[in-house]
Amino acid sequence: MAKKFSDLAPSTPQTKLLKAGLTFSEHGFVNPAVYHGSTVQFATVAALRERKQQYIYGRDGTPTHRALEEAIAEVEGGKAAFLCPSGLSAITTALLSVASAGDHILMTDSVYRPARHFCMTVLKRLGVETEFYPPDIGAGIAGLIRPNTRIVYTEQPGSQTMEIQDLPAISAAAHAAGALVMLDNTWATGRFFNAFSHGVDIVATAATKYYCGHSDVMLGAIITNDETRKLIATGHHALGSCSGPDDAYLILRGMRTLDIRLKHHMENALVVARWLQSRPEVDRILYPALPEAEGHDLWKRDFSGATGLFSVVLKPAADEAVVSMLEGLELFGMGYSWGGYESLVIPFDPSSYRSATEWCAQPSLRLHIGLEDPADLITDLTAGFERLAATC
Ligand SMILES: *Cc1c(COP(=O)(O)O)cnc(C)c1O
Repeated sequence: MAKKFSDLAPSTPQTKLLKAGLTFSEHGFVNPAVYHGSTVQFATVAALRERKQQYIYGRDGTPTHRALEEAIAEVEGGKAAFLCPSGLSAITTALLSVASAGDHILMTDSVYRPARHFCMTVLKRLGVETEFYPPDIGAGIAGLIRPNTRIVYTEQPGSQTMEIQDLPAISAAAHAAGALVMLDNTWATGRFFNAFSHGVDIVATAATKYYCGHSDVMLGAIITNDETRKLIATGHHALGSCSGPDDAYLILRGMRTLDIRLKHHMENALVVARWLQSRPEVDRILYPALPEAEGHDLWKRDFSGATGLFSVVLKPAADEAVVSMLEGLELFGMGYSWGGYESLVIPFDPSSYRSATEWCAQPSLRLHIGLEDPADLITDLTAGFERLAATC
C-alpha cells in the first residue's frame, strides 16, 4: 500500500490545511472521491433493522461529506462539524437546535442582517425573544443576561461596520450565567481566529466565502465542541439539512489554498487600506488590522491575521457622486457575498435596522480586496475618486 499523505504527523496550521480530511482518500489517489448517493444498501435484514453500518442514507452524508466535516472541524479548532446548504442555514439550524419557546437570545447589533431577520420572524413566532446589544459591550453583557438567556450570539468583525468584540469577556459572563456562546466566524475562519480557545461553544461559518474562495459554491457549517455536539447533531439530523457532494468536494478543494489566499488577501488589503488613508475623500477606514482603526487592540490580542474585507467611511458626498464612482469601476465588481478571488464593492447603510446602536456615517463602502495586483486596484479606485470629485 502506498503511504497516505494523511499519515504524516500534523504540524503547523498551513500544513494541517493541506492534510485535513485526507484520511478519506482511497486507492492511492491524493483526494477523497465524490460520492453521489441517496440509497445505501444493507447486506442483511438484521443490519437494515439495526441500522448498524457507517453510512445509512444519503441525507446523513457520504464519505465526501465526512471528509469535509472532519477538515472544517479541524481548521476551526472544534470537535465536530455539520454541513448545511448555506451559511445562513448553518446559523438558523444551530439556533433552532438550541433555542426553545420561552428562551431569550442576546444578539450583537452588528449581526449579519439575515440572521437578525430569522430571529425577528421565525424565532419570534416560535416564542423565542431576541434582544440586541452593542457589539462593544464586553463584560457588560452580564447586565443583560436573564435567567432564561440561552444564547449569547456574537459575530466579529461586525457585518459591514467591522466592530471587534471582546469574546473572552463575553464568554466568561455568559458561562457564569449558564448561557451558550455562538459565533459567526466567517470573516476570519478558524485559520485566523480560534473560537473555541476564546470561550465560544458553537461556531457557524459561511464556507461560501473564503473556504470556497472562487465564488461558485453555497455551503455552510456548524462547528461544535464536545459539550454542544449532541445538541447540534440532534437538531441538524431532525431538520433534514443536507448539501450536494460536488459542493462539499469544491469546498475541500478550496481549503488547500485557504492559507495562501488569506495571507495574500491580507497583504493586498493592507496596501489598499493604507493608500485609502492618504486620500482626502476618506474620513476613516474600518479595518481592525490597521493600528489607527477601532478594535485594533482586541484584534491584535485575539486574531492571528486579517482577511480582505473591510469598510471605508467617505467624507460627505452626494449620492450621484458615489454612484458615478462605483459604476465606473473596472476591477471592483458590485455584488453581495465576498471571499472569492475577485475584488468587490458595495455601498451600505445599516442605520434603518440597527436597534441597540446608531450608525450615521455616510457614505460608507464595503470593499473586498481580491488577489489582483493592488497597484491595479489603486489605479481603478483613483479613477473612481476622480469621478466622485467631478460629480460633487
Ligand atoms: C455571507 C454570510 C453569511 C451567509 O452565508 P450564505 O452562504 O450566503 O448563506 C453569514 N454570515 C456572514 C458574516 C456572511 O458574510
